[in-house]
Parts: sequence; structure tokens; C-alpha cells
Amino acid sequence: MRVLNWKDHNAWVTLATNDSYSLGALVLAHSLKTVKTVHKLAILITPGVTAPMKQQIEAVFDEVKVVDVLDSRDQTHLALMCRPELGVTFTKLHCWTFTNYDKCVFLDADTLTLANVGALETFCIWGRSKEFEVLQNCDELFEREELSAAPDPGWPDCFNSGVFVYKPSQDTFGQLLEFARTRGSFDGGDQGLLNMFFKEWSNTDISKHLSFTYNVVWSSTYSYLPALKQFGQNMKIVHFIASSKPWLQSFNTETRLVTSTHGGSGLQELLQLWWDLFCHHVHPGLSTEMIESRLS
Ligand code: UDP
Ligand code: MN
Repeated sequence: MRVLNWKDHNAWVTLATNDSYSLGALVLAHSLKTVKTVHKLAILITPGVTAPMKQQIEAVFDEVKVVDVLDSRDQTHLALMCRPELGVTFTKLHCWTFTNYDKCVFLDADTLTLANVGALETFCIWGRSKEFEVLQNCDELFEREELSAAPDPGWPDCFNSGVFVYKPSQDTFGQLLEFARTRGSFDGGDQGLLNMFFKEWSNTDISKHLSFTYNVVWSSTYSYLPALKQFGQNMKIVHFIASSKPWLQSFNTETRLVTSTHGGSGLQELLQLWWDLFCHHVHPGLSTEMIESRLS
């Protein structure tokens, strides 16, 4: 019988339903390894992920669970947000089925823990020193209780569902599915559903409000630059929401620099960090065919 180490009891969990998001998940996993997390890495994938990509994922994650796509099929609400593809994010609910762990932190595949990478000697963002970055890991999140999350900058009475602490439970999973079936989601995606289900988050227990530094949502429409200057160095997890997906930006293979089409203060540096991790850890394992079809 294998004796479980306490560290085996917690896991970071992410989701990828196709090869593009898998690239995000791989970079995320490497960012967690770079900051030397002591926790396991687990991922939900669906049959939309190709076999060669699944192999790459299996080499990095401790546990890979293949699940079926859960789709909200709620085109009316999704159309309001101009994001018809988000129905598929209901698949995220499967994360509650990782009952072999005591506690988990879910991270969207378009998030990144800030770490320094060897290849990036000169990386310096808002005065963050290299030493400081190496120490930066977010393992303390596992001390929080379900459901802990950071406010969504678009409507801060709601939490952003790109980063949240939860307790796996078949019972909760069943309740969430039933809730999804009977009540749906006010935005058609997982964030609307989870905010309805965990509605006490907004006004009951402040300890369940994570600092924004754990889910710095990069918005192209609103930013608070003085706060970014003041607190940017505390940033722990960055979240490339909406169209700022790193793998959709153009990358110059000669200069090894990314050129963002969306701009926004600081975004360029963070996209560059994503690409440095990608080039260093993920790209070497991919075939030319996989790269051409997934990054374009
Ligand atoms: N996702 C996925 N395939 C998709 C869309 C989303 O695997 O086609 C997963 C992925 O983990 C992603 C998360 O669902 O990070 C939430 O979607 P997204 O990050 O695109 O939403 P946003 O954060 O931009 O609102
Ligand atoms: Mn996201």
C-alpha cells in the first residue's frame, strides 16, 4: 500500500477541450513547476484534445482525466457577452470530481503564475527582483476554504471563475449539474453559474475574497494604472481573458519577441513571459505540424 504524503492531498486543476487551450495549460503547468509548487498538477481534457497533445500533457501533469464536454447551449446569454464558445466552459464543473484530493485550486488554462525563467535574465517587471520571483509561489492558496476567489473587475460583486479554491465532492458536483439544468447561468458560462450557486461569496465571509493579485485580469477596456504601479510587483497570477490569449498573438521567431495587437500597459511584458516559458519548455516537445495548426 502506498502511503500518501500530505502534499499528495492537494492539486492545481485546469481544463483544456482542444489543442490551443492545451498549449495554455502546458505553459501554466511549467510556470507552477518553476515556482516549485509542492502540490500535484491535474487536468481535465475532453476528446477534442489530439493524441500527440495528450502525450505532451501526460508528461507534465500528475493526473489527466478525460471527461465529456458539458455545454450550457445557452446561446442567448452567451451572445450578450459576444462569446458563443463559452458554453463549453461548463465542462469546468467536472473539477469537483477530483475527490482523490482534499482541496484544489482551479486555474483557467489562460492563467500564468509569475515566475522567472532562466532564459530571461533581464526580465524585470515593475521592480520585481529575480530573487523575489523565485520565491513566489501561491501554495498558500490551499489554506483557503471553498469557495474562495477574487473579484471580477467587470462587476466586483461577482467573483472571476478563472481562479478559485474549492473542495472536490461528488455531492457538490451533482448539485451543480442539477443547478445548471434547472437554473442555468446568467451569462451562459461557468462564471454566471458558479456565482449563482455560491451566491453568498459576495457578502458573507471576507476571507473567501482572494486578493486581486491572485487573478490579475488583464482588461483591454479598463485599467487603474496608479494601482498597477503601486501594487504590480505583488502580482502572483495573471489571467489573459478574452482576446488577449497569448497563443493567438504574433511571435517573431528571429527576435523571439511577441507583438500584441491589444496593447495595454504591461500586457506586452506578461505575454513575453508566457512566450519565454513556451519556447523554453513546451515548444521543444511539439512537432512542426502541431505548432502550425495550433498557433495560427
Ligand atoms: N476552455 C477550453 N476550451 C474552450 C474554451 C474554454 O478548454 O474552447 C477552458 C480553458 O481552461 C479556459 C476556460 O475554459 O481557460 C475559460 O475560458 P476562457 O479562459 O476562454 O474565458 P475568459 O477567461 O476569457 O472569460
Ligand atoms: Mn480565462
